[in-house]
Amino acid sequence: MKIYNFAAGPAMLPKAVMEKAQAEFTNYQNSGSGLMELSHRGKLFEPVLARAEANVRELLNVSDDYAVLFIQGGASMQFAMLAMNFLNGGVADYVDTGVWSSKALKEAKMFGSVNVVASSKETKYDHIPAESEWKRTADAAYLHITSNNTIAGTRFTKLPKPTPGVPMLSDMSSDIMSRPFDINDFGMVYAGAQKNLGPSGMALVILRKDLAARTDDSKVPTMLRYSTYIENDSMFNTPPTFAIYMLALVTDWVREQGGLAAMEKINEEKAAYLYDFLDNSSFYKSPVAKADRSIMNVVFRTPSEELDAAFVKEAKENGLTELKGHRLVGGCRASIYNAMPIEGVKALVEFMKKFELANK
Ligand code: PMP
Repeated sequence: MKIYNFAAGPAMLPKAVMEKAQAEFTNYQNSGSGLMELSHRGKLFEPVLARAEANVRELLNVSDDYAVLFIQGGASMQFAMLAMNFLNGGVADYVDTGVWSSKALKEAKMFGSVNVVASSKETKYDHIPAESEWKRTADAAYLHITSNNTIAGTRFTKLPKPTPGVPMLSDMSSDIMSRPFDINDFGMVYAGAQKNLGPSGMALVILRKDLAARTDDSKVPTMLRYSTYIENDSMFNTPPTFAIYMLALVTDWVREQGGLAAMEKINEEKAAYLYDFLDNSSFYKSPVAKADRSIMNVVFRTPSEELDAAFVKEAKENGLTELKGHRLVGGCRASIYNAMPIEGVKALVEFMKKFELANK
């Protein structure tokens, strides 16, 4: 049976990438060793790191004003690290659009004051608060957003603009490389790798270099300072070599697909296929404001919690796995990142039709 994996992360990776990694697994470029057995300072790893960085720069149009960094600890460590480096007892603005935003701002409170400029918490994060209603701090150390909310299933369909002098930072864990955006609007973007970039174990961080000078070196440990990663090309200590290698393969694949404009086109098509079906159904419901719906994480519900559970179970029996909603919110969720082919979305909709007929 063909399996389509709708997991939110770690998530499915492009088949061609998995096969390439498999072919090279035990004997990388005829060295007699697998890449993960080789020195990070050796001749074979060096070009892999360089290619990962070059691919990111090309795909996201990143200039030399920015550093491209690979940092262990996932996106969650970035919640603390960015505040540790940039807050210094000042005020940071946060837009609270979901569980991950609220975790990010909780970490920041340890290093200064947090101003929540807007929140959709009271309505279970079912929308993105309108930018016109945000209460921004004029001299904030930074503004932090979460461009795509993996659990709630919302996104900034239109990314906001920064106010002059206040760098905008975004957690892009669940939508990086899914659509083009202007990196120059951001002081920093970061993403846990395990959705659109490769396996878990690191975060991709793209940081405007001048911001690294804001860190008080006497207060922030070496491994938690961005300057350490910039000065050592992400190799102050042993980096996650295998995760970087996989990111290089995944970004090669994104380039082969035609880059981010092509990714966005197919992602929009996949999401529209699923949302059109949901909108025309009286059985399934999307709990999310239409204008703010994520094209990566499609959240939906059947008429009852019992049916939600039956849906997830039967879908799995039909080769459609990992459709359970996040444990905090329940319901169902189909994560359809870059690697999910449209055939997977079509197979899901076919199953949804059958399930509806059987359970109406
Ligand atoms: N931010 C977002 C938007 C996420 O979806 C996740 C993980 N699902 C995280 C942060 C946390 O990522 P990590 O597990 O890499 O710390």
